[in-house]
Amino acid sequence: MKLLVIEDEHKTAAFLKKGLEESGFVADTAEDGEVGTYLAQQGDYDLIILDVMLPGQDGWSVLKTLRLRRDQTPVLFLTARDSVPDRVHGLELGADDYLVKPFAFSELLARIRTILRRGPARQPATLWVADLEIDVQRHKATRSGRQIDLTPKEFLLLSLLVRRSGDVLSRTLIAEQVWDINFDSGTNVVDVHMHRLRAKVDDPFDLKLIHTVRGIGYVLEERA
Ligand code: CA
Repeated sequence: MKLLVIEDEHKTAAFLKKGLEESGFVADTAEDGEVGTYLAQQGDYDLIILDVMLPGQDGWSVLKTLRLRRDQTPVLFLTARDSVPDRVHGLELGADDYLVKPFAFSELLARIRTILRRGPARQPATLWVADLEIDVQRHKATRSGRQIDLTPKEFLLLSLLVRRSGDVLSRTLIAEQVWDINFDSGTNVVDVHMHRLRAKVDDPFDLKLIHTVRGIGYVLEERA
């Protein structure tokens, strides 16, 4: 199994390469995004370990470039950034897993093995409920083929609802996942954004998909 480590911190890159080789993998390293993208496209890697904060082209952009070129090599983000929106963003771009520094090498190894075992099955790039379709890579949403213009937050909110379609999501969970805030701080940010989202996603259509569950939160589903 051949792995590519894209990491600008020389010590971390060397430590990872040594650890991976001792665990039976072949490991190449790249210390910036441009070289990393180039190697990723040349070498036939089974998995890429990708740092987010890189000089020049950052990790998000490396992943975006790969996915746009239909390169579906599994990617594990390795990063010091641990906020929930970052994690959600990484996964939406098509990352397979996300590990926050500092980490135990044994944990990294376990995650790598899980991803490799899972094989090439991919998160679908497109998700849909009834006539609503979202393209998680291009950040586009349509209903009956008609494009819906959303702000980045609205898109994040909608994609959370679509991914968890049929589940009632509490305001607390939504606030945590989309805004990384504690809902108990008394904000009505979730309701305000949900109102705007419904105006765009549901108001122009007969079939309503977003439903309020009184006292709990919201659910997106097709109801007969
Ligand atoms: Ca870095």
